[in-house]
Amino acid sequence: MADRLKGKVAVVTGAGSRGPGVGNGKAAAVLMAREGAKVLCVDLHDERAQETVDLIKSEGFEASVFGADVTRQESCRSMASAAVERYGRIDILQNNVGIPSRQTLADITEDEWDEHFVVNVRSMVMAAQSVVPHMIAAGGGAIINLSSIAAVRAYPATSTAYTVSKSAAMGLTVALAGQLGQHRIRVNAVAPGQVFTPLVAERLDEEGRQRRATSGLIKDEGNAWDIGWASVFLASDEARWITGQTLLVDAGISVTIPGGGIATLPPQRL
Ligand code: NAD
Repeated sequence: MADRLKGKVAVVTGAGSRGPGVGNGKAAAVLMAREGAKVLCVDLHDERAQETVDLIKSEGFEASVFGADVTRQESCRSMASAAVERYGRIDILQNNVGIPSRQTLADITEDEWDEHFVVNVRSMVMAAQSVVPHMIAAGGGAIINLSSIAAVRAYPATSTAYTVSKSAAMGLTVALAGQLGQHRIRVNAVAPGQVFTPLVAERLDEEGRQRRATSGLIKDEGNAWDIGWASVFLASDEARWITGQTLLVDAGISVTIPGGGIATLPPQRL
């Protein structure tokens, strides 16, 4: 399939990757470009976004870098203006920026708590606020917020602030869907499961990677491309009647019962 986003303009925040390989923002930017969108690749670190743009351009598609801290209202306004100046409109916003947390309930500090809500939630609000007038001018649009399996399943104890911020991303999705539906702007969330990306690679040994890779019902390791395809779908007109939803892309972890249920039926009874 190709051209599912032909003629559209996408803004992807956190479009670089923090380490070697491909993270969720980078994958979404690349896949959206391959599907015909012109992509503004936004990142705090220009050189990270540049790697994504280089990859997109090497394949003959269109993208450019915009360096910005998307936790700041003024930076988000400049980001939206740059997209319109360069490409004429905005149809898609992927709110990808997010950072993991490291403190348990006992350890959590005011600063760590606030930082997670600024980076993981305020960034989404500021970016959406800045692009929405341009989406209305374009006749509609699609916003995709990155949540996490951590929002709906108990996670390592250190993820106190992360878990709550990713639940907030789901709440924000519902709130904005309610406000923006009248403008034909759809707002959905993607909640990745235990995918292997540069964000987790730096904190995992080989045993941990294997454990995560086989933690779902599908025993293949998930990656950022699996998450990016969900974003492409939600950004495309194929999802024109879907709004306010969170799509869990998690190999089925969210529907498993830890420890298993009762014994399975013998094959002849199935
Ligand atoms: P990543 O860390 O590789 O890339 C994110 C990029 O965001 C980085 O390049 C970073 O420079 C940029 N960034 C950070 N703060 C910024 C700011 N204030 N302004 C602009 N850019 C900023 O991460 P990724 O793989 O692209 O995925 C991130 C998203 O996916 C997060 O929201 C994360 O919570 C979510 N997620 C990841 C996993 C996983 O296993 N990898 C699982 C669930 C959810």
